[in-house]
Amino acid sequence: MIIANAAAALPGERDFRLVDIFMKGGKIAAIKEAGTRVDPGGHSVDPSLSADEEILNAKGLLAFPGAIDPHVHFDEPGFTHREDFTHGSAEAARGGVTTVIDMPCTSIPPVTSPRALEEKLSIIKEKALVDFAFYGGINGHMIPEDISGVIESLAPRVVGFKAYFISGMDTFPAVDDSQFAAAAQACAREGRPLLLHAEDPDVIAEAIKERASIRGSQKHQWIDYYASRPMDAEVAAVLKALKLAGQYAKNIHIVHVGTAKAAAIVSEKGATCETCAHYLAFDETDFARLGASLKTAPPVKSPEQKALLWHLLAEGQIGFVTSDHAGAPEYEKYTDDPLTAYGGIPGTGTLFPYLLSEGLFAKRLTLDRFLEATSGGAARRYGLWQAKGSLQPGKDADFVLVDQNHTGRIVSSNMMSKSTITPFAGMVLSGRIEGTFVRGMPVYASIRLAAALGKKGDTIVNEAGMILAQPGFGKFLTWGYR
Ligand SMILES: [Zn+2]
Repeated sequence: MIIANAAAALPGERDFRLVDIFMKGGKIAAIKEAGTRVDPGGHSVDPSLSADEEILNAKGLLAFPGAIDPHVHFDEPGFTHREDFTHGSAEAARGGVTTVIDMPCTSIPPVTSPRALEEKLSIIKEKALVDFAFYGGINGHMIPEDISGVIESLAPRVVGFKAYFISGMDTFPAVDDSQFAAAAQACAREGRPLLLHAEDPDVIAEAIKERASIRGSQKHQWIDYYASRPMDAEVAAVLKALKLAGQYAKNIHIVHVGTAKAAAIVSEKGATCETCAHYLAFDETDFARLGASLKTAPPVKSPEQKALLWHLLAEGQIGFVTSDHAGAPEYEKYTDDPLTAYGGIPGTGTLFPYLLSEGLFAKRLTLDRFLEATSGGAARRYGLWQAKGSLQPGKDADFVLVDQNHTGRIVSSNMMSKSTITPFAGMVLSGRIEGTFVRGMPVYASIRLAAALGKKGDTIVNEAGMILAQPGFGKFLTWGYR
C-alpha cells in the first residue's frame, strides 16, 4: 500500500514534508518526495508500480508516527468491570495510539513472575487491537533477597519494572526502602528502567491528619482529597528514590509527575520522568466543576504548576506524556465522597489529540518536541526504538492521519473504552484523527476514511469512526523488538 501526498512529520525536520509512504509487509519500505511516483490526484505515474498496488490519497492530511502510550491500566484479567484489552486498545487506536505498555498491578494475577506474565499474555493476545508490551511488578509482598531473581526472570519479557511508594491496591502493596534499593540495582543490571509511583506516604499521612482536623465531622469536599496529597509528597518521594537508587539513579523513571519541582529534580539527577495530559490540561480549581471525573493519584495541582509542566515538557526535562489510562464504572466513580471515589481517567484516546491541539497546534511544543513527547521518547526509553517511535524506512508502518482543519468537541459517546467518564469530555480541540495504522493495517478509521478505503467495521462502530482490525491483531512486544 502507498499513502500518497501526505504532509508527514519526519524525524529531524522542522516542518512537515509532502511525501508518499510506501509500505511492505507491515514495514515502511520507502518515503519519497510526493509526486515522483504518484500524482496529486492519487494516480500512479510510475510504470514500475504494479497496477494493483493500493494507493490511499492522503492529500490534505498530516501523517504522524503512531503514538506510544507507555502507561495504561487495561485491567485484564481480573478487573474487567473497569476496562478490558479490546475496549482499551480500541480507544487507543481511536486516539492515534499504536503501541501501549500495560501496568503490572491492575490485573489478577499481577505480573510478578514469568508464570503470571504468560497467564496474562495468553488471555490478552486474543484481544489486543494495537501492539502492546508489559511491565513487571515489584511490590511489598516480596522479600528483598528474592527481588533480584524476580527481575532477572522477567526481564526478557518486559520493557521495565514498576513499584509504588504508596498504593491503594491490596493486591499490589507499596515497597519499602530495602525492596526499592534491591529493585533499583537489579533493574540496572538487567538494563530495564525501574518505574516509580513517587508520593511519600509519611507526608500524605501527615496531610490527611491535618485535613481531618480542619474538616471535623463535616462531609468531605474535594479539597480534602487534593490537599491530602500535596506537592511535598512528590518532591520527598523523588528525593528518597534517587538517594536509595544511588549510582543507579539514571535508571529510575518517575511516572505521572504533577509537580514541576519533582520533575526538575529528576532531570537534574539524570533520571527520567513523564507527566500526563491531565496535569497539563487541568488544575485544582477544576474539581468544583468536574468532580470525580478528574480524580487521579497524584491529583492535579495549582494553575501555576500546570504552566511549569508545559515549560519543562517543551524544554525536554519531562521526556514524554502518558495517559495513565484507568477507567471505572459509575458506581465506583460517583460514590458521593471525594475520598472513596475511584481514582483514574480513561485517557488513552484523548492523549494524542489533546497534545496535538494544545501542544503542537497551539505552539507550546515544537514539532520535534511533540514527536518526542508522543512517540519517540517512550520508544527510546522502553527498548522499542528499532521498530517504533518514528516514520523511517525499516520501521513498522505505525502512523496516524490527521485532518488539521477540523475543530471538534470531545464526545463521550464516541469513546471506545468501557468507561467514558473523563474530564476531557466537552473540550474543543483542533485536528481530527482520520485513521490509525498499525504495521500498515488500518485499525481505526473515521467514517470518511473508511469510505475512502471501501471498508466497514464490525468489532466496534460509532458515529465518528470504527475499528477495522480483529481483536488479536495487536502484537506482543519485548525489549529490542525490531
Ligand atoms: Zn498508573
